[in-house]
Amino acid sequence: MSFVNNRLFRERIFYNALGGLVLIIIFGWILFWWTEKGQSSTSASINKPCIAIVIDDFGYRNDHIVDGFLSLEVPMSYAVIPGHNYSSDFAREAHSKGFEILIHMPMESHEKLERVEPLILTSSMNSFEIENAILAAFHEIPEAVGMNNHQGSKATEINWMMNIVGGILKRENLYFLDSRTSPQTKAEETIKKNQVKTGHRNIFLDNKEERNYIENQLKKIAALAKAQGFAIGIGHAKELTLEVLEKKIPELLKNGYHFCLVSEVLDK
Ligand SMILES: [Zn+2]
Repeated sequence: MSFVNNRLFRERIFYNALGGLVLIIIFGWILFWWTEKGQSSTSASINKPCIAIVIDDFGYRNDHIVDGFLSLEVPMSYAVIPGHNYSSDFAREAHSKGFEILIHMPMESHEKLERVEPLILTSSMNSFEIENAILAAFHEIPEAVGMNNHQGSKATEINWMMNIVGGILKRENLYFLDSRTSPQTKAEETIKKNQVKTGHRNIFLDNKEERNYIENQLKKIAALAKAQGFAIGIGHAKELTLEVLEKKIPELLKNGYHFCLVSEVLDK
């Protein structure tokens, strides 16, 4: 009796060990396959030219154009002007759909602004007022991970202003994208000195509201991305820009480009 029990016991141990070994082999193989798959998709996306598109001037409207941008199926960065009717709702919805949010901070321009902005950085403000305006913007749109300038041809040329902006962005751990609305902009270099992650717009998509022009600008962005690995384009929340993107994104993907967020191509 004890002999039989002993044999049964040994057999049970043997089969348990065998089962464990099979499980380890299966688990190991799955782990290996998963790691390989991850590595190959990462290296494939690194090698593809990367197009980072920012769409400016969200916050004013809530219509089919906004819905269209929210339906794009590639990574995009959306810049929202603070203080408008739809600013915070749009930012929340876009963020929930996986888009990256920037504060599109109005800054003083050499030209007279078309619209009066509720929050704007001007050279007549002191550092306390500039800080309050920036903090109010990020308080209204907490989804934002960075900032770019709306207008700002005058403000971005002023070192002391950009230095204050840089200090606040550093403290709040936010990035800065220079829209480059002035050829004399000092924004990127000054803000970078504050150890803030920065980048700048390479090409504007839609300075002219003409379909051919916008398509051509997108081609230029793609060509630059191919040449240097990535390119940053800025467009606006307008119908024609949306239509061109809806039409051209599938073609660009087919031709080996991929789309990325601004935060992925900073400091390059
Ligand atoms: Zn703007």
